[in-house]
Amino acid sequence: MKKIVILGSTGSIGTNALDIIAKFPGTFQAVGLTAGTNVEKLEEQIRAFSPAAVAMADDAAAARLRARCKGLTTTILSGADGLRQVATMPEADLVISAIVGGAGLVPTLAAIKAGKFIALANKEPMVMAGRLMQDEARKHGVRIFPVDSEHSALFQSMEGHRAEDILRLILTASGGPLWNMTKEQLQHVTVEQALKHPNWKMGDKITIDSATLMNKGLEVVEARWLFDIPASKIEVVVHRESIIHSLVEYQDRSVIAQLGLPDMRTPIAYAMNYPARIPLDLPSLNLAQIGTLTFFDPDHDKFPCLGLGYEALRTGGTMPAVLNAANEVAVQAFLDRRIGYLDIAGTIRRTMDAHQPAEVATIEDALGADAWARAKSGEIVDSLSTSPSVVH
Ligand code: NAD
Ligand code: MG
Repeated sequence: MKKIVILGSTGSIGTNALDIIAKFPGTFQAVGLTAGTNVEKLEEQIRAFSPAAVAMADDAAAARLRARCKGLTTTILSGADGLRQVATMPEADLVISAIVGGAGLVPTLAAIKAGKFIALANKEPMVMAGRLMQDEARKHGVRIFPVDSEHSALFQSMEGHRAEDILRLILTASGGPLWNMTKEQLQHVTVEQALKHPNWKMGDKITIDSATLMNKGLEVVEARWLFDIPASKIEVVVHRESIIHSLVEYQDRSVIAQLGLPDMRTPIAYAMNYPARIPLDLPSLNLAQIGTLTFFDPDHDKFPCLGLGYEALRTGGTMPAVLNAANEVAVQAFLDRRIGYLDIAGTIRRTMDAHQPAEVATIEDALGADAWARAKSGEIVDSLSTSPSVVH
């Protein structure tokens, strides 16, 4: 029986992971769950899975949850220390890291330091402090299994192959809901349009990241640290159907890819039960029915965020953490209808331009750059949201 902690259990990845646990009760047990503020969902999960402990990031939410769960055996913790306690529970074998954003860095790192194997969905910490996370993982004998569908595909396409034979990693990108829009149309994109992802049902933040292609920028940085491959060997191809999840080219020009219908339960299950595969009750891929798979080069002019990801990675040091934090602030401001779609890239660009990159030697360096960038991009957003020229 594998004992599992899920950080971010009420989110899109978290609920998919619990769906797998519910279907394989002899294989997995949920011993710890955490959430930000969603009391109703976490209560439901406590009643369904009886975890030993849960934590809510928000103290007031935890107090409401305690009142609703009187008489149940689950310990309810709260705040940063509560998250850390659940992330490091002695009985846990695997921690599924599925919080959204930089908020996942500290608890995920705590789990690594406690020697827990990690199934990593939460890509932002890898962007902020990838080298540090991998150093800690090595030090504590921890394996980090990718959950992100592209990285799971790369991981699966590397199995049984030698790292020194790899020529290129090719990440696929769906292109998102706005791929076919003109530059003129992109000026007037609404939140509703940007949230309509063609192939995946995900949380709001990553869905907006997919619409700007920043998701792919973050994933390039994630791939660099997960697989210890330089940026020069990581490429992106737009593949509208999201059937080929990514590819690895070897030096004999052989290309190995992983395919499947777009359902996150497949990569989540692989990370949860590596190397054994779980018999998931999902539809099979029918290539004849799909008929055509299409591929395009990314359009860096219309979607500058992918290039910003590469740029931050090449600059190195604190710059990726700054990119990530500015993106989080700008995406939230867009979702709150304070800035326009094109202002997301503009805000990140201006924040990066204002930053003096420094080395990330400790976690405090990454968190300091994160805090600086949140303040800076917050100022930029304030100035944009009071300007009458902004298109909402
Ligand atoms: P989501 O918004 O659906 O869920 C986020 C979870 O994190 C929720 O449980 C929420 O309560 C918790 N949370 C939010 N803010 C928090 C905070 N400040 N402190 C503690 N907990 C907090 O997000 P998601 O779509 O499930 O994505 C989670 C992560 O996985 C992201 O990093 C995303 O990029 C990555 N990812 C998601 C998908 C997908 O299909 N959804 C695919 C690949 C990668
Ligand atoms: Mg992905």
